[in-house]
Amino acid sequence: MLVDTYGRVATDLRVSLTDRCNLRCTYCMPEEGLQWLAKPDLLTDDEIVRLIRLATTELGVTEIRFTGGEPLLRPGLTGIVERCAALDPRPRLSLTTNGIGLARTAPALRAAGLDRVNVSLDTLRPEVFRRLTRRDRHQDVLRGLEAARAAGLTPVKINTVLMPGANDDEAPELLSWAITEGYELRFIEQMPLDAQHGWRREGMITADDVLRSLRTRFTLTPEEEGRGSAPAERWIVDGGPHRVGVIASVTRPFCGACDRTRLTADGQIRNCLFAREETDLRAALRSGAPDGEIAETWRAAMWGKKAGSGLDDPSFLQPDRPMSAIGG
Ligand code: SAM
Ligand code: SF4
Repeated sequence: MLVDTYGRVATDLRVSLTDRCNLRCTYCMPEEGLQWLAKPDLLTDDEIVRLIRLATTELGVTEIRFTGGEPLLRPGLTGIVERCAALDPRPRLSLTTNGIGLARTAPALRAAGLDRVNVSLDTLRPEVFRRLTRRDRHQDVLRGLEAARAAGLTPVKINTVLMPGANDDEAPELLSWAITEGYELRFIEQMPLDAQHGWRREGMITADDVLRSLRTRFTLTPEEEGRGSAPAERWIVDGGPHRVGVIASVTRPFCGACDRTRLTADGQIRNCLFAREETDLRAALRSGAPDGEIAETWRAAMWGKKAGSGLDDPSFLQPDRPMSAIGG
């Protein structure tokens, strides 16, 4: 298993399939994009599937989440999903996407064995979407969401980041819409992972701000069962059955219950989103290392995981790679 010195066990693997993206969300990427990874540096489909097989058969991983960058931009995605769904034991398979292209791909992804999706959507207003993502693709995301629901990639969860002066007044409207449409909404606090280093703690919308705003229209009661290793704290809306989640990575960190391990598109293991070190599995793969040796390297990478993200420490340093390159 992937255990660390604090006794945490990583069972949830986030796999970044590409660092590229077709949006430019202001809290993630600069307008001009980034220096993308060169093709030979990316893991091949075979290399990705080999590492996922190793993780599920040798290292106790039970959940695989594909992410990026924008994972729907990876040409081999459906094939990767299909091969992972054939593994024994079969991991649960999900995808975090901005939803662009999902209208076309949702049925094939479902048929390949994808269990569910998280779609990122910050606003119901097309002009705010354009401002936040610097692209005019709001309709595509809404269509993608509908297709995911129709294809049975459920529960469809929506990830929303609120940004001051842009969409911070939209929380109640988004929740009311999500309930009507049958999507599960989760607000994510903005984290210092943007390539431009523009994050300021004073400027961010906190979980408390979100809850205060939602309570102007809804009655929220904390869910009885704790959040376990799930990052979202959940509230029952107006007595149920609907729920809303808040992922307060900054103001209420959940590092003590973290069960994540991360693989970047260029084959580096990160034991934390905020880690400043990575462990190179690509070099091991390409030098012909046997499974046992790669598994051992992965175990050692997780063993060294720090107790917390260090976000609250005055000496906190943002990781060198932004969210889009790590895999959010
Ligand atoms: N492109 C896909 C998407 O947007 O869903 C997958 C990758 S994206 C990096 C994954 C998630 O990270 C999205 O829900 C996005 O909103 C979130 N995210 C990106 N930058 C963030 C930041 N600085 N703070 C908090 N969440 C962020
Ligand atoms: Fe792209 Fe996702 Fe980053 Fe937005 S949050 S720029 S959609 S990777």
